[in-house]
Amino acid sequence: MLGKIHSIETFGTVDGPGIRFVIFMQGCHLQCKYCHNRDTWNLNSGNVIEMEDLLKQILKYQNYIKPSGGGITVTGGEPLLQTKFLIELFTKLKDLDFHTAIDTSRDVYP
Ligand code: SF4
Repeated sequence: MLGKIHSIETFGTVDGPGIRFVIFMQGCHLQCKYCHNRDTWNLNSGNVIEMEDLLKQILKYQNYIKPSGGGITVTGGEPLLQTKFLIELFTKLKDLDFHTAIDTSRDVYP
């Protein structure tokens, strides 16, 4: 399955507990005045990534993510614009025993 991301941070320390592998998804409709990730807004921009390639990248860092009490955080942009991708990603991450977190502006599941 394909997803569209803006970028990846492999050693995040402010987006959840422990050391985080942070995935910035591409696209957001809200355009908040004080957004600090404005380059994630454009739905027609970003990088297409295959789920399996993303999981391979994550697994390379598991030896310092897991002992730190960390995990995977998905942010953006608005992650819930790519719900199917997220459900599959989080399902696979749970099977691999990763802690997960999501950073969203939505309080209603689409
Ligand atoms: S919801 Fe988040 S990413 Fe979207 S514009 Fe607002 S602060 Fe930026």
